[in-house]
Amino acid sequence: MCTTSPEPDAILARAIISTLVRKGVRVLALDFDKTIVSVHTKGYWRQTTPKLAEYVRPCFRALLEAAISECDIYVSVVTYSMQPQLIRDVLLRVLPHSDISRVVIRTNAEDWAQKQVTFLGKQQHIAWLVTELFNRDHVMIQAHEILLLDDDIKNVQLAEEFGHQAYEVPEDVTLDLISEFVNDMNVVERLPATPTE
Ligand SMILES: [Mg+2]
Repeated sequence: MCTTSPEPDAILARAIISTLVRKGVRVLALDFDKTIVSVHTKGYWRQTTPKLAEYVRPCFRALLEAAISECDIYVSVVTYSMQPQLIRDVLLRVLPHSDISRVVIRTNAEDWAQKQVTFLGKQQHIAWLVTELFNRDHVMIQAHEILLLDDDIKNVQLAEEFGHQAYEVPEDVTLDLISEFVNDMNVVERLPATPTE
């Protein structure tokens, strides 16, 4: 388990994650561009990793640190970016004491990205993630146990249509705003498992 600094941000971030766990959220899925970082890499960042790390929003640095140290929640980055290694390196740089291997990163890397005939938002990424967690850890994640944080309203609306929880990240996002949203969220009821023959 990782240690976190007792700064006010760290304390509030831990409270947010505890509330999510208590309310039944099992997967925290975060967009990258204009969410974790305040800039848009347009799919391919051409500057250095340290430069991009400078744009990581402090509230998401704190939230990621708290989420990664919480065993009862899976953490994922779901993004149209084509640079999974860059994202991992940025996280390693801003969270040197966290176990970044706990973060499942799903980008639109060339070996995976599907042509979208209709707009699917982050649903392909989330579907892949659910399958990945099942194959890897034999856990069955239900749609409403996933919380997507994304700055794009279309992705948020689509996530809600697919039964996920979703929060539209505003430009002036703070931990207080995220905390308000999480506190107002309904408790997620786990659906009974379907009996197998
Ligand atoms: Mg975005």
